[in-house]
Amino acid sequence: MSYDTNNIFAKILRGEIPCHKVYEDEHTLAFMDVMPQADGHTLVIPKIPSRNLLDADPKEFGALMASVQKVANAAKQAFGAEGVLIQQFNEPAAGQTVFHLHFHVLPRHEGVPLRPHSGKMADHGMLAGHAAKIRAALEG
Ligand code: AMP
Repeated sequence: MSYDTNNIFAKILRGEIPCHKVYEDEHTLAFMDVMPQADGHTLVIPKIPSRNLLDADPKEFGALMASVQKVANAAKQAFGAEGVLIQQFNEPAAGQTVFHLHFHVLPRHEGVPLRPHSGKMADHGMLAGHAAKIRAALEG
């Protein structure tokens, strides 16, 4: 399977479509998932193209996982969460719907179930507020 340069995350990286940005560095970008399964649901992606974990260059994992950890800690703090779920899907059979490698960061609270994957589009004002909360936690 090859990389499609017109996937939605590639368009976000090129600035062709907007996102609610949470964090960016030389190698990675993090932004709010528009169909959040939990409040604070954030996606962390590498800037280098790869379809998913299976075809990615392992040399990019250090920077990518450092950003996942950074965003996970900030999202946990911002939402007063008790835990953080990290999810990553490879190919349609495993639930992948956007074909640019990404990690889901989901703040979790005891007894609060996740909403459905790729479920309902969230209000953009709410997503902007959630992104601001996580950015504030990142700035410490
Ligand atoms: P996956 O099924 O792991 O490929 O997840 C793709 C995720 O991207 C889903 O959780 C979608 O809600 C999310 N998503 C789709 N389009 C956008 C977008 N334009 N901006 C942010 N998140 C998106």
